[in-house]
Amino acid sequence: MKKKALLIDLTMCIGCNACQEACKKENNLPEGEEKKLSATAYTTLEEHDDVFVRRLCQQCIDPTCVSVCPVGAFTKTAEGPVLYDESKCIGCRYCIQACPFQVPRYEWNSTYPRVQKCRFCYDRIKQGLQPACAEACPTGATKFGDRDDLIREAYERIKAEPEKYVDRIYGLQEVGGTSVLYLSSIPFERLGFKTQLETTALPLLTWNALSKIPTVVTVGGVLLYGIWWITNRRTYVREYERALQKKKDQKNNEQGDKHEELS
Ligand code: SF4
Ligand code: SF4
Ligand code: SF4
Repeated sequence: MKKKALLIDLTMCIGCNACQEACKKENNLPEGEEKKLSATAYTTLEEHDDVFVRRLCQQCIDPTCVSVCPVGAFTKTAEGPVLYDESKCIGCRYCIQACPFQVPRYEWNSTYPRVQKCRFCYDRIKQGLQPACAEACPTGATKFGDRDDLIREAYERIKAEPEKYVDRIYGLQEVGGTSVLYLSSIPFERLGFKTQLETTALPLLTWNALSKIPTVVTVGGVLLYGIWWITNRRTYVREYERALQKKKDQKNNEQGDKHEELS
């Protein structure tokens, strides 16, 4: 399976916000422009130095959110999207703390809060379609394709117009590489990008990084999982005991009826 990616060429973006609108429609999120990533905005447009910068989950090749989740609520698919399973999530929010790009958002106001972020339109990709944002982009600033092809194309664009582009593809190496790649005419550090990130995948470093707060995280993770397991186990035991009691009562009633019939 070839890895998919988005190439976002900031020199071609006109700030029309069609990407966010299409994303909201595709994911049944409330309409209305949002400037910051939120539980109801999986992608946004920031403005730096008169340049529009799309923000969304980078769909890391080796994602930290996957590696820190103690119950496996995050998974990395072969195609590239990083998915979240709310039925497994215990709400510890380590994914939010650990993401090097500060992407995942939490539904703080919900009774049953979930973590929210871009899913890279996984259902569409599986059907051979491109993500909604790429389809909606009128200028081609957001382009979808095979990651290797897009990297080749990005290099070609830089080579063809070296005076136009910074000689860097953001996302090529950051934290071991991501599935969202950027080209720019202005140095990335001036556009709010994190340019000092490790070039190796963070999961290997995760435990080193977390080892700065080892007891809190490791013991906390085990403890939360324990609480979740105990809670579920208790529910299970309670239901089992109820069913057993019901059966006993039924049997007693039947024996009582038989006794009455005989006497
Ligand atoms: S950007 Fe953050 S949330 Fe997205 S895959 Fe990478 S670590 Fe996970
Ligand atoms: S890939 Fe899909 S979910 Fe992600 S920003 Fe684009 S439209 Fe939204
Ligand atoms: S749809 Fe394309 S041109 Fe419009 S804001 Fe999004 S990336 Fe930029």
